[in-house]
Amino acid sequence: MKTEARLAVSETFYSIQGESRYAGLPCLFIRLAGCNLRCSFCDARYTYEEEGREMNISTLLAWVAETPGVAVEVTGGEPLLQEAVYPLLEGLLSAGRTVLLETNGSILLDRVPAGVVKIMDLKCPDSGMHQRMELANLALITPADEIKFVLSSRRDYEWAVGAIARHRLAGTAGLTFSPVVASLSPATLAAWLLADRLPVRLQLQLHTLLWPGQSRGV
Ligand code: SF4
Repeated sequence: MKTEARLAVSETFYSIQGESRYAGLPCLFIRLAGCNLRCSFCDARYTYEEEGREMNISTLLAWVAETPGVAVEVTGGEPLLQEAVYPLLEGLLSAGRTVLLETNGSILLDRVPAGVVKIMDLKCPDSGMHQRMELANLALITPADEIKFVLSSRRDYEWAVGAIARHRLAGTAGLTFSPVVASLSPATLAAWLLADRLPVRLQLQLHTLLWPGQSRGV
């Protein structure tokens, strides 16, 4: 493994996992710098507006080793933009960790090591980025993975429902609908999900409830 390979890191922190099936559990986060998309609702602009700190893989693995037994999430920005993310993921798996990868859905997942839990966005129209998705990824997703729809409006909701039907996504992975609460109330989304009897998980970002207004380090 290339443990001296370097990554541009936006931040590292230990927090409560706010999303996915792992929500509520403690988790180590490695947030890599840089993103190739510009979503309308982005709350992590600092990941591409600021330069990251250069860190090598061995330093990151040593930091992870200080907190045994918990899952590690590699996120961004878009983590797959950096070549060294692949040996980092392999190193985390070799260390025996549950490894989560949050990715924006625009980059092919074929090089992600087996065993990594992929949490992939499928961007909806109000994001402004839905035409940037790499749809070949839908064949690479497994039931252990998750597909996340971030919804800003009824238009997004209907688009997401259509995408699940069109791509036959039910049962292929965990499906989550997460509202942009500034423009779509969670209760409204819940009512739509129940009315349509959809097999998806309503996801509220636990970290935004615990630490409102704070976007870094949570
Ligand atoms: S993919 Fe994520 S980090 Fe990149 S612009 Fe969209 S919300 Fe922001």
